[in-house]
Amino acid sequence: MDLPLGRSRRRGWVVSCRPLDGEHPRGLPDLSALRDDLCPVDLYPFLTDGLWALSDEIGKLFLTSRGLVLAQMCPPRLEPIREPLPARSEGGEGKLFLFYSFKEWERWDFYCAEAEGAAERGEDAVLVFPEVSSAERFFSFARERLKGLELHLWRGFSSRRALSLWLELRLSRGGKVVVGARSSVFVPSPRLGLMVVEQEASPYLISQRHGTINARTVAYMRSKVEGFKLVLGGDMPSSRSYRALRSGASGELLWRERVPFRSRDGVSLHVVDLRRARDLGPVGGTRISPALVSATRKVLDSGGIVLWLLDRKGYAALAVCEDCGTTMSCPRCSRPLSLSRSGGQRCRWCGVSGDPSERCPRCGSPFRRYLSPGLEAYAEVAGGLFGEGKTAVLRGDLSRRALAEVLGWARGGGLILGSRGSLDVLESARVPLCAWLDLELELSRPDYDVVPRLYGAILQSGYRGLRPGEEREVYVQTRNPRSWFVNALKGGPQNMWSVELEGRRIFGYPPFVNLYRLRLALRGGGEGFTSSLPSFAELIGVSEEGEDLEVCLRSSDHEGVRGWMAGFFALRRPGGRSLAVRSIEVLRD
Ligand SMILES: [Zn+2]
Ligand SMILES: [Zn+2]
Repeated sequence: MDLPLGRSRRRGWVVSCRPLDGEHPRGLPDLSALRDDLCPVDLYPFLTDGLWALSDEIGKLFLTSRGLVLAQMCPPRLEPIREPLPARSEGGEGKLFLFYSFKEWERWDFYCAEAEGAAERGEDAVLVFPEVSSAERFFSFARERLKGLELHLWRGFSSRRALSLWLELRLSRGGKVVVGARSSVFVPSPRLGLMVVEQEASPYLISQRHGTINARTVAYMRSKVEGFKLVLGGDMPSSRSYRALRSGASGELLWRERVPFRSRDGVSLHVVDLRRARDLGPVGGTRISPALVSATRKVLDSGGIVLWLLDRKGYAALAVCEDCGTTMSCPRCSRPLSLSRSGGQRCRWCGVSGDPSERCPRCGSPFRRYLSPGLEAYAEVAGGLFGEGKTAVLRGDLSRRALAEVLGWARGGGLILGSRGSLDVLESARVPLCAWLDLELELSRPDYDVVPRLYGAILQSGYRGLRPGEEREVYVQTRNPRSWFVNALKGGPQNMWSVELEGRRIFGYPPFVNLYRLRLALRGGGEGFTSSLPSFAELIGVSEEGEDLEVCLRSSDHEGVRGWMAGFFALRRPGGRSLAVRSIEVLRD
């Protein structure tokens, strides 16, 4: 629909419409009731009924506007639609199938067989991956495996071919296989017979663009609406799937093996006690066990690539006076100052930089020592052990070019240090050794889901990108080799979930309740917001972030929260100022 806006015109969707007088029409909007200067653009519906209905449900579930959901479903430039949608395929009952195996190639074989079956039935299949890199690698895998089938790689609306592919899929008459990252969950095919969500527990299935929409949840809702078969797969179940499994309420299940890191799979786990390792660095606490040093050296000598993982950037997180032990802190927010690679001191929270030559504010001593090493400190030590030219730190997000560069550099042997994002390296290179430098640091993230996230990342460091016949070792350095987490690593995801879910049930975290993270503009009256909380929402955290207020709520009454918050979104709130809500995240797990 085109509608006038000032002197220009805007194009958008008609979600519902009310005649200027009279009752609200049932069913489809009655376009005759619109004013004359509003021009309908499309001759036929843009989306299938299923996707259209879904856009409303998703908006309500993730507290985002329906327009923003539709914007993710449709091309950014809305072209007039001149062709009707083909008839929908016979709706099934939306069967659910769960498939878990640590071995990636086993899952991928299974997905290919399922896609082949769908194509034979004259239906389309969509395979959704958490990362673009894994979607691309699966695409080349499937091209070999599914010769003769029509395969498409869905890259979202960023590519030039996107619009024509979208229109083509909208008119699909079946037999197509579409592979893509999380936005492919909205592929407009009217003849969808199968959807696969790979690594269904992955946090990367959650989009951060407009609200926290989880592609797995969308796939599940869509399969219920459109009746296609849904396969959720991965190396471990998500909390929701695990709960459904325990209660027997899930669909069919194939759980190939439950104990990871078995030598016959070619993947082994070495848990190393850090308390016996020597401190090697100028930064206190840079501990690398002799076992890891010799394993790394062995791989480097044979020309292989090694990946060391640590969730702390920079050089050191703490600067302490050598004489009196005072922690150097930020002059503005008084949190500890950290040391960057260039030798400057900087506050990680407010960005204020300190002068490293400044004397201790308490005793005046010019000497200080650094604690809590970051990636750069480990890289310095590793450079001393294996040679400067043999080590590199991956900084920031991995672009395709940065990845190609570092892999070119590492040809002939190299040690790559990085945070969890660098697991992407496993997609494009053979890496026989991955090491987690500090398990306790990884577990100290403040997120409620820190445990399954780390568990999944460690599984990935063992199995991601591994081909049949290849071998990989995973080293985990820890100060507590008998912790329940280490035991669960050896025992399998079911051991992790049984402890983790019991804790979440007791303390009230998803999937037992929803968490809501709101970012409010203080100028808009954020204080009034928190003081007017209804009884069904519990305030569990408030913090000021610059000009904004960050509020975290917990509730098991989603409809209640939605209705209460809707009041704040009205353009003009009766009797009060409107509130600027910058973002809402709904965390349901
Ligand atoms: Zn001092
Ligand atoms: Zn500060």
